[in-house]
Amino acid sequence: MKRLIIVPLFVILLCCAPFLLFAEEKPAPAVASAPQPEPAADMPFDAQVTLRVLKDGSVQEMTVEDYLVGTLLAEMPADFPAEALRAQAIASRTFALRKAESGKHTGADVCTSYACCQGWTADGTASDIARVTQAVRDTDGLILTYDGTLIDATFFSCTNGRTESALAVWGSDIPYLQSVDSPGEEDAPRYADKVVFSADEFADRITAICPDANLSGSPANWIGSIERTEGGGIGTVFLGGAAIKGTALRSALGVRSTDMDFTVTEDGITVTTHGFGHRVGFSQYGAKAMAEEGSDFQTILAHYYPGTEIKKLLRRTAEQ
Ligand SMILES: [Zn+2]
Repeated sequence: MKRLIIVPLFVILLCCAPFLLFAEEKPAPAVASAPQPEPAADMPFDAQVTLRVLKDGSVQEMTVEDYLVGTLLAEMPADFPAEALRAQAIASRTFALRKAESGKHTGADVCTSYACCQGWTADGTASDIARVTQAVRDTDGLILTYDGTLIDATFFSCTNGRTESALAVWGSDIPYLQSVDSPGEEDAPRYADKVVFSADEFADRITAICPDANLSGSPANWIGSIERTEGGGIGTVFLGGAAIKGTALRSALGVRSTDMDFTVTEDGITVTTHGFGHRVGFSQYGAKAMAEEGSDFQTILAHYYPGTEIKKLLRRTAEQ
């Protein structure tokens, strides 16, 4: 019986790109769940490989291209510059193939939950679909690697001006997920936000995650010293005398970012945030700003995932 694999160990020169792309040295993830006919020699990688996508409780098989088009429609505004869309396509392809390798979902390679894997939608105007499809095809088979393996291509909406390191947010020191500058995002729709909590509600939310916090008396005395991360978020804050991680506080308060500032008023406590999301890895609005300044997708990805390489997965072939 024939088995389908990815051709390994090729070095190719793309005639349309001014740089060398090295084919992934390992076989690509075994994401296809069923034997497929041998593809035409010139068929793009993304059209050859299928993903099992868990959506609304059932598994749909679709090509990587169809998956990525739906993912880009869900995850990034289609009117973003082409280079930002291309960068997102590469990040999303890498993210999905790594998820598929991880075996997180039984019977599926990825799901369509924003929180778990990546969003996906079939909805979009004809022009939006055309734009994102072009970005996917322009980057056919391109993935990001570090030390020869797929990276954890995390991404998010917008920063406060800097990204966070994986170490600061998740406790894992990952060489390509470091804190970097991310200017030009002040116009992002969710760049800044304010949430007002009554003193009682604030106290309830804090003591739910940290019963040791003594939130009695005047709220003006509740907020103690704040240790900031390199990315400007709260690393640790003392509330009612108890140390609380910024990530835990963000979750408890349900606010957009760990970059929080507090203002105590008669109405309660106002929490002002800058940035939206975990802020680790690729900033979508940062990519937009870079693209508008003339950066190409290679430059954008090298900025947000330092030390990584873009490689090209090659087409499948038949093996006896
Ligand atoms: Zn998932």
